Amino acid sequence: MSIDSVGEFVWVLGLIAWYVIRYPFERRAKRVRVVGTQRSPSDNVGLAAAVFGMAILPAFCIVTNFPRAADYPSNIWSVGVGTISYVAALWVFRRAHKELGRNWSISLEIRERHELIRSGPYALVRHPMYTSFLLMALGQFFLLSNWVAGIAGLIGFSILFFGRVDKEERMMLDNFGPQYRAYMETTKRIIPYLY
Ligand code: SAH
Repeated sequence: MSIDSVGEFVWVLGLIAWYVIRYPFERRAKRVRVVGTQRSPSDNVGLAAAVFGMAILPAFCIVTNFPRAADYPSNIWSVGVGTISYVAALWVFRRAHKELGRNWSISLEIRERHELIRSGPYALVRHPMYTSFLLMALGQFFLLSNWVAGIAGLIGFSILFFGRVDKEERMMLDNFGPQYRAYMETTKRIIPYLY
């Protein structure tokens, strides 16, 4: 197996693990009533961009070997860094889901008896799930030695994140008022102590 194929293999395994972690929350979310929504066409575009850049396009590139002109030779360091990044992403992703529990939604929604979570990874950053998406997109960049497949995740993540984060924080402020404002003062958005 070439080192390029190892990178692709790790990426595919990571994507499967991602879905295994997420699936129970998608099922549970159907049973918890939504009492307020900020879901908009632009948020759906952001979600679609993230799924396209972080799953569909790289999978297509791996299966079809297209575009071959964008391939470059990989190396063990790059695959190592990518694997560490992807594993860290999955760990943060799982911790964030567990902590958010029944308050989780795929989009911007307030659920019945919604609680503001400030524990676990939420004590450090307000958006640990987006932190995990960033780590995943970085992992993808280092694991897939093709410029198109590699960069697609970072672009998809950026479209989702920058299109959503202000609206999400506004929605949380509207619902939790001073409690969320105080929370904002003690946390960063996605990178602990930095941003
Ligand atoms: N932005 C968060 C959550 C993503 S899931 C993260 O990256 O970890 C999106 C839903 O989570 C939103 O609909 C919002 O209602 C909810 N949410 C976001 N932050 C929350 C918090 N601190 N406590 C409870 N719910 C939260």
